[in-house]
Amino acid sequence: MRAWTAPDVPTLDGRGGRLRVHDTALDELVEIEPDNNEARLYVCGITPYDATHLGHANTYVAYDLMYRVLLDCGHRVVYTQNVTDVDDPLLERAEATGVDWEELAEGQITLFREDMTALRVVPPQHYVGAVEAIPSVVDLIESLKLTGAIYQVDDAEYPDWYFEVHRAPGFGRLSKLSDDEASAVFAERGGDPERPGKKHPLDCLVWRLERPGEPSWESRLGRGRPGWHIECTAIALQHLGAAFDVQGGGSDLIFPHHEMCAAEGAVATRQPFAKTYVHSGMVGLHGEKMSKSKGNLVLVSRLRSSGADPTAIRLALLAQHYRDDWEWTADSLREAQQRLARWRDAVARSAAPSADSLIDALRAALRTDLDAPAALAAMDAWAEQPGADPDAGATVVQAVDALLGVRL
Ligand code: ZN
Repeated sequence: MRAWTAPDVPTLDGRGGRLRVHDTALDELVEIEPDNNEARLYVCGITPYDATHLGHANTYVAYDLMYRVLLDCGHRVVYTQNVTDVDDPLLERAEATGVDWEELAEGQITLFREDMTALRVVPPQHYVGAVEAIPSVVDLIESLKLTGAIYQVDDAEYPDWYFEVHRAPGFGRLSKLSDDEASAVFAERGGDPERPGKKHPLDCLVWRLERPGEPSWESRLGRGRPGWHIECTAIALQHLGAAFDVQGGGSDLIFPHHEMCAAEGAVATRQPFAKTYVHSGMVGLHGEKMSKSKGNLVLVSRLRSSGADPTAIRLALLAQHYRDDWEWTADSLREAQQRLARWRDAVARSAAPSADSLIDALRAALRTDLDAPAALAAMDAWAEQPGADPDAGATVVQAVDALLGVRL
């Protein structure tokens, strides 16, 4: 699938070093050490309906920051992202609104591309839809079948295919939930712990056989469509291989989604799925997590059409640490607009403080668990200081663009 237009990312002098990020499994900072200097990154993409709200934007800007920091560390970055362009929530929304599901998906993907372009998010090299990934999904299920980890549920009408999660060594190491807690979260987030005929309540669907009125595709498993977790597992393994560097997404994906992907990948390859699992926080509005189901969405496209500078929207997101849960308010954008104006004035000065120590401070902040608020504070301080370097402003414009994706 086509991604979106790539922004220019300037290259700064003095690249090198390492990024340390918080790994959810270990609950501590770990260094990203790419094999052959190639950092392989997978970030879970949208299910294309109600795109792009600020929760999405917050997630993709967080991993864009990671991408930029990895580049500045001197790594090559291979970035893969999926689009869940067929799944229950999309089909339910299409049904509820009387829109054809493919048209709904296409329209929302187009809007997402426009929003990502406006926010200067670097596109993935591999942008892959669930539908186009069906052959790899079926191949992966077939190879999992050979390990004995796949079975058909005991259901005469719809014997769908499931993955036996406890075949995976270390299942549960990301979420650290008890079985009861896991079952409750699984049920809330699209799982079916109560379905009769499963070997274990947490076993996850990998291939859903055709139901009347639902889209389906021919396969060796019978006509049907892929489950959500196996979709990401197959796309990541196809484009990045096993033991890739980072799987990322919002913290609501830790369980079941990333736990299931990790389990399927580990059983299929006998290697870790990803080396590190990184999760970004949730954006709330009026005291509740912003989500499609609650209907309390602030859409990037609506902010843009009401005249908000996309650079200010990006800066408002960067003012929060990527791992924090936080609330969007009208002040978030107003403060970002004011900060952007101060920064633009500061780089336009005829003489400013040297850029070198600022670049060191930006790098130090971002390489320590992508601490964007600390980077913004360093830039605020630079903007306040007097100086005598006539070239500093131009260098800082390049640095802020390269590292923060903020164009002054
Ligand atoms: Zn995913």
